[in-house]
Amino acid sequence: MAVSIEGGAVVAKFHRVTVRFEPAALGVFDAHRQKGWFTREAGGQLFADIKGNVWHVVAATGPKATDRRGRFHFWPDRKSEQKEIDQHFSAGLQYVGDWHTHPEQVPTPSRDDILSIENVVRESTLYTPGLLLIVVGLAAFPGGLHVSFHG
Ligand SMILES: [Zn+2]
Repeated sequence: MAVSIEGGAVVAKFHRVTVRFEPAALGVFDAHRQKGWFTREAGGQLFADIKGNVWHVVAATGPKATDRRGRFHFWPDRKSEQKEIDQHFSAGLQYVGDWHTHPEQVPTPSRDDILSIENVVRESTLYTPGLLLIVVGLAAFPGGLHVSFHG
């Protein structure tokens, strides 16, 4: 998998899909970077305009007051997440995965991060061949962005 920058978007190419993170989504990641020692993990969902095998990730939702957050943990509020999925779906956008922050330069997903996204893939009715797991670190993009595809 190669991640590069193309015209203001971060582009990740996978076997089955090409994912373009558009500036609006990157802005949300940037705003929640875990810069200080006391800042907590934040996260949310990713929504894309799907054109063939190109996913344009145009929206990333932010953390909600009902999420439980810690420095090394992020437990989303799954009930309001379903509401977000329904709202974006009616605007023509598909739910394509989750994102959260880590307090490290070049982020690596934890074992729990992987198990969690694989669990969502298994238990959801998806309109896509899989979901993305994004971890936002401290380094500039694309180095500070972990992007993986889970089918
Ligand atoms: Zn994590």
